[in-house]
Amino acid sequence: MSAAYPRLLAPLDLGFTTLANRLLMGSMHTGLEDGRKHFEAMAAFYAERARGGVGLIVTGGFAPNMEGWAKPLAGTLATHAAARRHRQVSDAVHAEGGKIALQILHTGRYAYQPLAVAPSRIKSPISPFTPRELSARGVERQIRAFVRCAALAREAGYDGVEVMGSEGYFINQFLVTHTNKRSDEWGGDYEQRMRLPLEIVQRVREAVGPDFIVIYRLSMLDLIPEGSSWAEAVQLAKAVSAAGATILNTGIGWHEARIPTIATSVPRGAFAWVTKKMRTELRAAGLTIPLVTSNRINTPEVAEQILADECADMVSLARPLLADAEFVAKAKADRADDINTCIACNQACLDHTFQNKLASCLVNPRAAMETVLLVRTTSTRRRFAVVGAGPAGLAAATTLAERGHEVELFESAAEIGGQFNMARRIPGKEEFAETLRYFGRRIAATGVRLHLDTRATAEMLIAQRFDAVLLATGVSPRDPKIPGQELPHVLSYVDLLLHARPVGARVAVVGAGGIGYDVAEFLVTPDGESPTLHLQEWLAEWGVADPAQVRGGIVPGRPTPPARQVTLLQRKPGKFGRTLGKTTGWIHRATLAMKQVRLIGGVHYERITPEGVVVSRGDDGRERQLVACDSVVLCAGQEPLRELHAPLQAAGVTVHLIGGADEAAELDAKRAIAQGTTLAAAL
Ligand code: NAP
Ligand code: SF4
Repeated sequence: MSAAYPRLLAPLDLGFTTLANRLLMGSMHTGLEDGRKHFEAMAAFYAERARGGVGLIVTGGFAPNMEGWAKPLAGTLATHAAARRHRQVSDAVHAEGGKIALQILHTGRYAYQPLAVAPSRIKSPISPFTPRELSARGVERQIRAFVRCAALAREAGYDGVEVMGSEGYFINQFLVTHTNKRSDEWGGDYEQRMRLPLEIVQRVREAVGPDFIVIYRLSMLDLIPEGSSWAEAVQLAKAVSAAGATILNTGIGWHEARIPTIATSVPRGAFAWVTKKMRTELRAAGLTIPLVTSNRINTPEVAEQILADECADMVSLARPLLADAEFVAKAKADRADDINTCIACNQACLDHTFQNKLASCLVNPRAAMETVLLVRTTSTRRRFAVVGAGPAGLAAATTLAERGHEVELFESAAEIGGQFNMARRIPGKEEFAETLRYFGRRIAATGVRLHLDTRATAEMLIAQRFDAVLLATGVSPRDPKIPGQELPHVLSYVDLLLHARPVGARVAVVGAGGIGYDVAEFLVTPDGESPTLHLQEWLAEWGVADPAQVRGGIVPGRPTPPARQVTLLQRKPGKFGRTLGKTTGWIHRATLAMKQVRLIGGVHYERITPEGVVVSRGDDGRERQLVACDSVVLCAGQEPLRELHAPLQAAGVTVHLIGGADEAAELDAKRAIAQGTTLAAAL
């Protein structure tokens, strides 16, 4: 067993049961919870994580009743029949030697459905439905639903429950005056407002007995105006502990908070200090309840350091367990470099959830697809060439080799990565380098023969008589054909990001898609000064404060000045950044606003001159404007690169196009990796 992570791998004795290590798989809604037909897939999903050695799993949220549904017909545990279905999940996890708790999630005013209830009739900014204000009897009914759900979880074979008391959901809504305007026994002063969680925990404990894990997820930092004060959060933690909670988990930020808490630009372990502050308070009061910390912990090193710093007794990782089910097993075996690291992109997990799609993982398309996307050892070893070592080619080549095929991977550049080599240079996207490290290790482990600095030609591929060729040759920047673009101060995003061509103090960016936004963020950041790498600077920039100083832990942000004056241009009229990620687009928009990036939409590019970009606007195009700048960066999308396709086909070679070579429009790494993996699993 690894000596590198003694604290992470140490067991945790809870008195009546012992967890194998300090890693809790945090609740991650995959959508599998929301349909009876998904129980087999859900069992396989959690069983794989249990086999990977995680100390305790918490399921995605299950509502205790219909009012608590996140959306119509959301997963609910309210009947004995439902408990019987859950047996499949708990049995599968126990068969792998794991432990699992069910999360009870009542969404209150965040519900995306008309039955929503809340302490007061106040609509949330993230749901179109105005909740019904509960009567005192209605509150009592919700408590009973929580208790029934916990008892049914025990009946279903779970080892415990997590009572979701944070992120701005139902329980949280009772705690703060922002959402609780009641004057009865469930509102008013803090003692009354916190009665709801205490009643729930106390009665859950009575119902489930002493030997059942009850985790309470407590919002330690609300990040909203009129959020809880620190004294209130501490008072609640003490009271919840006394009421019978086994473990306290950390919640950071309500969903409506306008501060990023889990995106890739959030520094690793950015909020562990909050749990440490709480732990210090509780230990000083003689309370020994274990505390779990969370948010942006994605490597065993970060987890170990947090535990060494005595920030918490356990760490919660949710998305990193989607990315790699064997996270703990690899850490144990001193193979941390083999971990497929979560890059916190949200693209295949949270973005899917908010689009009502099943969640998976960009870097691991098998996540939550374990029963569908099967990577089986082949009985007939064949020879494949994969051309291009970007995300699609890497995924395909390593999956083919893992299955036992012979694979030659050709890459014209001196390093693997393709578009990821540009992404990883964007401030706040440093995590993308981890995926390349992972694929580098996979290439070595699976025996893919990698040929760098090698531009594959049709002749050579034909001569080598492969069973099939996979073309993952990627994309090239689209030529926007703007008069004057040949001038020396005009460059492409590839020149800027990959070849580090210098730019002036005032820059115009042509095209406001994903890459235009990335380039703008690159340009406003001083070289090597990514705020993601400097926690205190990042907290100050976004206005995160010590909750003991200010209620809710928010103050006005203090952004550092932009390194350059940037103007972002697009031809479409209307809102900027519409194609950005569902859960991260607002962060990119807020970042550019913070850095005073000028946005000009609805333009027609007339020409580029040494003075800048001349654009026309308006229906008749008569409104001319010079966007004065020293440099122009072209980010006008991409075209597929597939010049090998026709000659190979003409020679009768079996060819498959994947990634950008197949379809450049709206290409993203999620589709590229999923396509490469799925094809390789099927060949
Ligand atoms: P993109 O998202 O397709 O954006 C290209 C932009 O260029 C469009 O918004 C378009 O806007 C403009 N454009 C298109 N043709 C043009 C022309 N002939 N002349 C001038 N402008 C033109 O492509 P991308 O920015 O290259 O990104 C590629 C993919 O990578 C995207 O699908 C994205 O999902 C992914 N990506 C995402 C992120 C992120 O979410 N943060 C970051 C990087 C990359 P107008 O037509 O309005 O001018
Ligand atoms: Fe992490 Fe992105 Fe995968 Fe979600 S999709 S688990 S954020 S790597």
